[in-house]
Amino acid sequence: MSKASVIIIGAGPAGLTAAYQLIKLGHPVTLIESTNQVGGMSRSLDMFGQIVDCGPHRFFTSDKIVNDFFHEIVGDNFTVVNRLTRIYYRNKFFDYPLKIGNVIGNISIFELTHILFSYFWIRIFPNKSVKTFKDWVTNKFGEKLFGMFFKSYTEKLWGISCNQIDADWASQRIKKLSLWEALISSIKGNKNNKHKTLVDVFAYPHKGTGSIYNEIAQRFENLGGKIIFEQKIETFIKQDSKITEIITQKGESYKADWIVSTMPMTSLIKGLSNVPQEVLDYTQKLYFRNTTLVYLEINNNELFPDNWIYVHSPEVTHGRITNFRNWCPTLTNGKNTSILCLEFWSFDSDSLWQKSDEYLSELAHKELLTLKLISENDRVLNSKVIKIPKCYPVYETGYMENLNPIIDYLNTVSNLKLIGRYGSFKYNNQDHSILMGLLLAKEIHTGVDQKLWDINTDSDYQESTEFNLSGYS
Ligand SMILES: Cc1cc2nc3c(=O)[nH]c(=O)nc-3n(C[C@H](O)[C@H](O)[C@H](O)COP(=O)(O)OP(=O)(O)OC[C@H]3O[C@@H](n4cnc5c(N)ncnc54)[C@H](O)[C@@H]3O)c2cc1C
Repeated sequence: MSKASVIIIGAGPAGLTAAYQLIKLGHPVTLIESTNQVGGMSRSLDMFGQIVDCGPHRFFTSDKIVNDFFHEIVGDNFTVVNRLTRIYYRNKFFDYPLKIGNVIGNISIFELTHILFSYFWIRIFPNKSVKTFKDWVTNKFGEKLFGMFFKSYTEKLWGISCNQIDADWASQRIKKLSLWEALISSIKGNKNNKHKTLVDVFAYPHKGTGSIYNEIAQRFENLGGKIIFEQKIETFIKQDSKITEIITQKGESYKADWIVSTMPMTSLIKGLSNVPQEVLDYTQKLYFRNTTLVYLEINNNELFPDNWIYVHSPEVTHGRITNFRNWCPTLTNGKNTSILCLEFWSFDSDSLWQKSDEYLSELAHKELLTLKLISENDRVLNSKVIKIPKCYPVYETGYMENLNPIIDYLNTVSNLKLIGRYGSFKYNNQDHSILMGLLLAKEIHTGVDQKLWDINTDSDYQESTEFNLSGYS
């Protein structure tokens, strides 16, 4: 009996993983990708003779299935990177994860007293009704630490107040580390790598994160899979409860038994025929944040040792800097320069999103000088700007009240599946998108519900399993 045919929209981690798994199971699969490259946001790029990613792309997972898949694809072709990431705030570096000795060395006794007081205060009088990011973090760390180490960065990233960000985001992304545990682990050392957000090593492919996806694409094509590049899906024709045809921006039409989408959920709904007005109204309320990546090649190979730095300093616009020099020596191709990548976040309507590449490169250069992360003697040899639209689904307070009716409606379309970061409106890392791809393939192949909507909804992000170095061996 012939197996169900599948069209997958988007060749990022979710779409590629699903495509590869399905073709291994004997399904005819076509992947349609709007750009000319696989990997999506996790692609790597050849830039100024070196290899870079779209900002920092550290792969880590506590899920055995995903870990096994990573090793199936990458084999021995990776290195274990010692992670160094710090927070830059008030012209000082704070270790991230926070180390108490380092914090004490950087702050006044008055501030330390304030931190301890506000921490113990919230332990005694916790907020019982946690709804927002601010509520969640304050409950775990106290008001003072929230103000110092969470507020400004988070508000730069999301463009809205921490009071408007749903607690879901914090609970999925920040390990519940108490100040007490931080103290104990800084005294004893964190020998067991107990906390997921305290991971201090990570596996990194020699040729960049994107090489994982190039390899999957290669294997997929070797098994007869087809990838169609530079075709953006725009229209979905639906009859009764089934999608009968999908059409690209260039007018090409495709049909299959199953349609799997990893394109932005909101764009899919806009292109779908006969969607009830009520669902369209809910869709209007979901929105994304964009990222602008500004890469500068600097003629200095010893700028700072971090893999990336969280820039809390409110006097500059960008929020994070990656230094690819410090990831894996094979990225530099023997060149003696450093490629830095500064991340700027904005909404479609923000003027920053519309700025020219020249303006943004100049701004990035000025901000590096302001922070004294480069000196006047360091020359910018090259620059490049990459804009990634819709890369952060905004978890505004109560967003699930808008998302749930949309999901209910999409579940009525019998041959449509949504996975991926903006596909399912979930703040996925690569591991979650890969897991969605793996389980989606299983669901289509076996017909058994794999509860795809539940992936990455754990209230404790990756907390159930302890981080285990042997997972990378
Ligand atoms: C700055 C930054 C840093 C990050 N850091 C990390 C990190 O350290 N670790 C980590 O694990 N993850 C990180 N991530 C997240 C990671 O990039 C994503 O989780 C992952 O790429 C999501 O995979 P995906 O397949 O769901 O979506 P995507 O990677 O977005 O892939 C979707 C694909 O669909 C294509 N597409 C979109 N619309 C259409 C259409 N209409 N028709 C056809 N094709 C379409 C896109 O071109 C894209 O190729 C980071 C992301 C960003 C932006």
